[in-house]
Amino acid sequence: MKYISILGATGSIGTQTFEVVRAHPEQFKITSFSFGMNIKLGVELIKEFQPDHVSVATKELAEELKRTINPTCLVYYGEEGLLEIATDPASDILVNAVMGSVGLEPTLAAIEEGKTIAIANKETLVTAGHIVMDRARKKNVDILPVDSEHSAIYQCLKGEEKREMSRLILTASGGSFRDRSRADLQGVTVEEALNHPNWAMGSKITIDSATMMNKGLEVIEAHWLFDTKYEDIEVVLHRESVIHSMVEFIDGSVIAHLGTPDMKVPIQYALSHPSRLELPSGKRLNLVDIGTLHFEKMDFERFPCLKFAFAAGKAGGTTPTVLNASNETAVEAFLKGRIEFLEIETLIDKALNQHESIKEPSLEEIREVDNSSRRFVQSLIV
Ligand code: NDP
Ligand code: MG
Repeated sequence: MKYISILGATGSIGTQTFEVVRAHPEQFKITSFSFGMNIKLGVELIKEFQPDHVSVATKELAEELKRTINPTCLVYYGEEGLLEIATDPASDILVNAVMGSVGLEPTLAAIEEGKTIAIANKETLVTAGHIVMDRARKKNVDILPVDSEHSAIYQCLKGEEKREMSRLILTASGGSFRDRSRADLQGVTVEEALNHPNWAMGSKITIDSATMMNKGLEVIEAHWLFDTKYEDIEVVLHRESVIHSMVEFIDGSVIAHLGTPDMKVPIQYALSHPSRLELPSGKRLNLVDIGTLHFEKMDFERFPCLKFAFAAGKAGGTTPTVLNASNETAVEAFLKGRIEFLEIETLIDKALNQHESIKEPSLEEIREVDNSSRRFVQSLIV
């Protein structure tokens, strides 16, 4: 039996993690989880999974929750609450499926406790990948990817020698606006941006997919997870999302990971690793039905956020922290209808341009740069 804590239980990845656990009650037990504001779903999950601890966004919500649920379940809140869940002594694995760099400190706390980290929360690796990977190495902790591209690469690399790998090829679906020109992006609505062609995901990552920032964050995530130079990471547009990513080796062989677009596959793999389990509800891939797969070169002028991400990754230091924090702030403003879609990239560009990168930043410096980048972007939003 593996004991599991989840950060971001009510989200897209969180709820699919519960589906995986439901399918394998003899393998997995949930000991604790956090969610933000969605009390209705949170209460249902507490009743079904009977965790020992939960955490919510605010003190008020924690008080409300305590009046509703069994008093044997302890209720925490805020950032302290996330730390309580991340360090739950009863769990072996932390599924980090919270949205944003708020996931960083709980990840570090869980690493300190020696827990395996199943990481969906890519913002944590973007903002402070060097600290996370360094501490994980020192503690001999596995960081297992949940992101489908990274799970694919992880699986392609199984049994291979790292030194024989020559290139990582990440596939990108292109997001909701892949067939629009930049001129067609003027005045697009939040609803249009949230309409992803292949995947049903949380709203922030769906906007990130439309701007291509999601792929940019994934390039930085891949750099840290697989210790790969940016020059050896390529992105190709692959609209069917059937090939989840590929690895090229020094002899020219390319190993690809294929499957239907279903996040339960990488979630379950991270939980069952190193074994595999049945995925009873999963639709199987039928290549004959699909017939043809398409690949296109990425256009960095059409998708400047991808260009920003490669440049930020190569610059290193606190530059990726700025990229991430400015993106989180701009996307939130777009989702609230405060800025236009194309302003997201303008704001990120301005935040990156005004920043003087700090080399090998400490956690304290990361926190400061994260906060100041958010304030900077806010100050530009009228
Ligand atoms: P969602 O928006 O669907 O869910 C986010 C979860 O985090 C919810 O449970 C939400 O609570 C909680 N949450 C959000 N902000 C806070 C906060 N400040 N404090 C505490 N809890 C908070 O996101 P996704 O599941 O789509 O994505 C989660 C992470 O996984 C992201 O980093 C994303 O990039 C990554 N990812 C997602 C994929 C997907 O298919 N969805 C694929 C690959 C990676 P509540 O709703 O209750 O307020
Ligand atoms: Mg992905």
